[in-house]
Amino acid sequence: MDPNVRDARRKLAAECIRHLRDNGFTADYYETAEDALNDLKQQIPAGSSIGFGGSETLKETGIIGWLTGNPDYTVFDRYHTDDMRKVFLQSLTADCYLMSTNALTVDGHLYNVDNTGNRVAALCYGPGQVFVIAGTNKLVRNIEEAVIRNEDIAAPANNIRLNRPNPCAQLGHCVHCSTPATLCNQFVVTKRSMPEGRIQILLINEDLGY
Ligand code: SF4
Repeated sequence: MDPNVRDARRKLAAECIRHLRDNGFTADYYETAEDALNDLKQQIPAGSSIGFGGSETLKETGIIGWLTGNPDYTVFDRYHTDDMRKVFLQSLTADCYLMSTNALTVDGHLYNVDNTGNRVAALCYGPGQVFVIAGTNKLVRNIEEAVIRNEDIAAPANNIRLNRPNPCAQLGHCVHCSTPATLCNQFVVTKRSMPEGRIQILLINEDLGY
């Protein structure tokens, strides 16, 4: 990343973290994904059960690689199962849940759009602790910009990645379809962490996921 962009993002991240903390989230800043992963390893006690949402960020940060086959934890692994529903349900009762977010507003809220809703369900209720890992590329000013970010960046890229026959995969932007194959079924704004501190944000100054 260009050093000036990096510095601007660092300043924006500091403002975001201030507001996240005001809103009851735990929030910390990391210069690199490696720093965040090392901290996460310290924070999740051995013996914990862990579920996670589908996420390119979790792959790019090395978190999925760390958890795959890890004997120190009970991992509900959505990427290695022939019974996805069972894994999703187990994940809702896990000690910890790991995910990214479609957008993170500088005024301290999360915005997520889901297909089946398993990820936003875990974000809202169930797992004891939720860790949200996000690059500073996910920062937007407010929920209005979060919606646009999802429609212009995250959702089209996800539709292309998953080879979905939806218009955004062809056009590169959302046209608010309502096809049976749409990935956009659940829209969740997380205004505050409830209980306080349950949702913990690890904000990394890198471009991660989309
Ligand atoms: S609503 Fe339809 S067109 Fe819009 S992002 Fe979702 S799948 Fe794509």
